[in-house]
Amino acid sequence: MDFELTEEMKMLKDMTRKFAMAEIAPVVRESDEHEKYTPEIRKKAAQNGLVGAWIPEEYGGAGVGILGNALITEEISKIDMGISLNVVASGFGCESILNYGTEEQKKKYLPPICTGEQVCAGAYTEPNAGTDVAGYKTRAVKDGGDYVINGNKMFITNGTVCDFMVAQCITNPEEKRHNSFSLIIVPADAKGVTRSKIRGKMGIRSSDTAEIAFEDVRVPQSNLLGKEGNGFRQLMHFFDITRIMVSGQALGLSEACLEASVKYVKERTAFGAPLGTFQMTQMKLTEMAIRIEALRGLIYRAAWLIDNGKPDYTLAAMAKFYGGQTAVFCANYAVELHGGYGYIDEYPVQKMYRDAKILEIYEGTKEAEIMTIGRALQAR
Ligand SMILES: Cc1cc2nc3c(=O)[nH]c(=O)nc-3n(C[C@H](O)[C@H](O)[C@H](O)COP(=O)(O)OP(=O)(O)OC[C@H]3O[C@@H](n4cnc5c(N)ncnc54)[C@H](O)[C@@H]3O)c2cc1C
Repeated sequence: MDFELTEEMKMLKDMTRKFAMAEIAPVVRESDEHEKYTPEIRKKAAQNGLVGAWIPEEYGGAGVGILGNALITEEISKIDMGISLNVVASGFGCESILNYGTEEQKKKYLPPICTGEQVCAGAYTEPNAGTDVAGYKTRAVKDGGDYVINGNKMFITNGTVCDFMVAQCITNPEEKRHNSFSLIIVPADAKGVTRSKIRGKMGIRSSDTAEIAFEDVRVPQSNLLGKEGNGFRQLMHFFDITRIMVSGQALGLSEACLEASVKYVKERTAFGAPLGTFQMTQMKLTEMAIRIEALRGLIYRAAWLIDNGKPDYTLAAMAKFYGGQTAVFCANYAVELHGGYGYIDEYPVQKMYRDAKILEIYEGTKEAEIMTIGRALQAR
């Protein structure tokens, strides 16, 4: 057994941390306050090999695997979880292109993600169905050599800034729910695509989130990924992989909460002594640290297993579930340890508290993860 990261992975983590400190830290506050998307950071990150880093080298990526991508996500999320989405999620959806796309589709769509020239969005959730993936209604009807797409997508990360998206559509309504879907690549500038930025998010305000409408959008049938009717299973497998990235966000945020708290309790005094000398303070730090280390173990192992051809997707779902819980737990304690200063924006923990909650909602709510894990345990 070897619990050490390889030298290559340590260097990647270190390099990402330096990048995030230099390029992201200075704009965190402004991006959060003004809900500002930062494309220049994505482009610089791409120059450093941090965008689409999980994509194999033959398609322009750094080929660092799921573990490498988790480390990148962790380090960027320590500085800003919203901006981490601008960087590591700018190829969100491309996992399905890599897994099911033709050689031509892979060569066309993957390299521009890695160079930072283009952005992909994963357009799955709809206004009336999120957790109930089989309840999506967007339709793609064959007409000549095209699909004609009608429907609405909701809460789509990078939705207004993407160049193309991978959308879940019903292509075979005559089939049972789970067999009726297909994943289709939709260019963002296709006629009939309308994108509206969603404002007023509680946290990750520097990330772009959109509502998207498809009205008689024509795309060639060659934009289908894999076989018609396989979309539901393809999407489930997509989540198997991307849950690790979201868990990496949770790990980074939780570590940042602990780091900020340790610093604060050494400086702040009460009753004539630093807060850190009180046992109740130490208990909070200790509980945060233990959860963080347990989460790290889950994420790194789940990622390593995928990279080494022995995937355990239940472990990945556990990492996502526990990641959300850990981040919310750590952010809560971090605010408490800062007292009144934790409640205002003078210290970073107020933002961390706002950012943390999304980790229990997107990429599968915590209830959805419980369903995934609970079913898998009984199927063993
Ligand atoms: C900032 C942000 C970014 C996002 N990015 C993307 C993106 O890039 N692409 C994308 O496709 N989606 C994205 N989403 C959507 C996100 O994945 C969904 O919001 C999430 O899956 C929940 O779906 P919903 O909002 O429809 O809630 P619902 O499914 O309506 O759920 C509401 C509540 O009911 C619970 N619930 C539902 N069914 C059950 C059940 N059977 N048993 C017990 N409880 C249940 C849920 O857990 C939740 O607590 C994003 C959302 C946000 C807020």
